[in-house]
Amino acid sequence: MADMRPPIESGCPDGFQYMHPTMRRNFGLWKYHTDPKPGVLRHVAESGEEIFTVKVGTQRILDIFSLRELTSIGDEFADGYIRFTIRSNIEFYVTDESKVDPLIEAVEKLGYVVGGTKNSVTSLSHTQGWLHCDIPGTDASGVVKSMMDELIGEFKAWNMPNRVHITTSCCQINCGGQGDIAINVQHTKPPKIDHAQVSNVCERPSVVARCPVAAIRPAMVDGKPSLEVDEKKCICCGACFPPCPPMMINDAEHSKLAVWVGGNHSNARGKPTFQKLVASAIPNNPPRWPEAAGIVKLILKCYKEDARDWERVGEWVERIGWPRFFELTGLPFTKYHIDNWRGARASLNASTHIRF
Ligand code: SF4
Ligand code: SF4
Repeated sequence: MADMRPPIESGCPDGFQYMHPTMRRNFGLWKYHTDPKPGVLRHVAESGEEIFTVKVGTQRILDIFSLRELTSIGDEFADGYIRFTIRSNIEFYVTDESKVDPLIEAVEKLGYVVGGTKNSVTSLSHTQGWLHCDIPGTDASGVVKSMMDELIGEFKAWNMPNRVHITTSCCQINCGGQGDIAINVQHTKPPKIDHAQVSNVCERPSVVARCPVAAIRPAMVDGKPSLEVDEKKCICCGACFPPCPPMMINDAEHSKLAVWVGGNHSNARGKPTFQKLVASAIPNNPPRWPEAAGIVKLILKCYKEDARDWERVGEWVERIGWPRFFELTGLPFTKYHIDNWRGARASLNASTHIRF
C-alpha cells in the first residue's frame, strides 16, 4: 500500500500559496483602504504594513507574448506576484510606494490601461464564447473588446455616480451574470431542425426533457426518428441546442442582442436584484457591435447625469421609476418589455434536480 498512487485532486488550488506575503501576513487584519488615484488602491493593515494594488485592464484574450510582458513587469515591480480578476484585469501588488508610478508607466508604455477602481466603469465581464464553449450565439469577447474601446475614458476615470459592472452573455440560458448593464444574446425564432442528423446525434428523451415549456415532442420524419417543436409554445430560449446541435437556434439574422439593466448579485446594501430588459432585438453586428455599444453609452450618459452620488444603476432606476428611465433614455417601450407569461407555474421546469 505504501507506493499507492495518490489521488489526483482537481478543483481550485489553495489561493494562499499565490498571495503576496504582505497580504498573507495581514489576512483578515486590514484596517482601512484609500484610493490614491484611478486604478490604484492602498490598503493599510492593523500592523501598520501597507500594500498598493495597481489594476490594469487587458484585452481579455491574452496570448503568451502579452502574458510574458505582463509577468515580467510583475517580476520587476511587484515581487513576482500578480492576480487576475474575474473581469480579466490584472492586479499588481506593490509594497514600496516609489514603485507605483514606474509600474504604471511600464504597463502604459505597452498599451495597457490603468483604472477600473472606485466609481468607474470596470472591464466588462464575459462568458466564454467561441473559445471554450460550443453553444454561443455571438462572440462575447469581441463585444467586450469593442465596447471597452469605446468606454476606455470611463475605465480610467472616476466620473460615474458609483461603480458600473457590465456583463455579456453569449447564450440566453447559461453562465451570464447579473450586471448593472448586461448585453445578452436573444434568439427570436424557434430552432430549425436538421431532421437528417437528429437520430445520429441526439438522445431524444434528454432533448425533450430540456425544454422548459414542454414544446418538444418525439416525431418520425421521413421514416426516421426525429423531434418536432410546437412553435406556439417555444420561447426561443435555446436550451435544446446544447444537447442536440441539429436543433439549430443560432441564426445570422434572427439571433439578436438585448440590453438589460439593474442586476446585482450582492446583498451588501440591499437585496440582490434581477436585471430587466430595456432594449431588445438589437442587431448582432460584428466586429464592433455599434448599435449595442450606442445603447450602453446612452444609458451610461443618462445615469451619469441623473443619478445621485453612490447610487448604483438599479438603485437609480428604482428611485426614478421605469417610466422616467424610458423617458430619459428615449429607448422605445414596446410590448416585448411586458412579462405577461402565465405558463410558468404549470410548465416551467422548476425542479431542483440537476440533470446532465
Ligand atoms: S453564456 Fe452560454 S454560450 Fe456563452 S460561454 Fe456560457 S454557456 Fe457558453
Ligand atoms: S428553444 Fe427553448 S423553448 Fe424552444 S423548443 Fe428549444 S428548449 Fe424549448
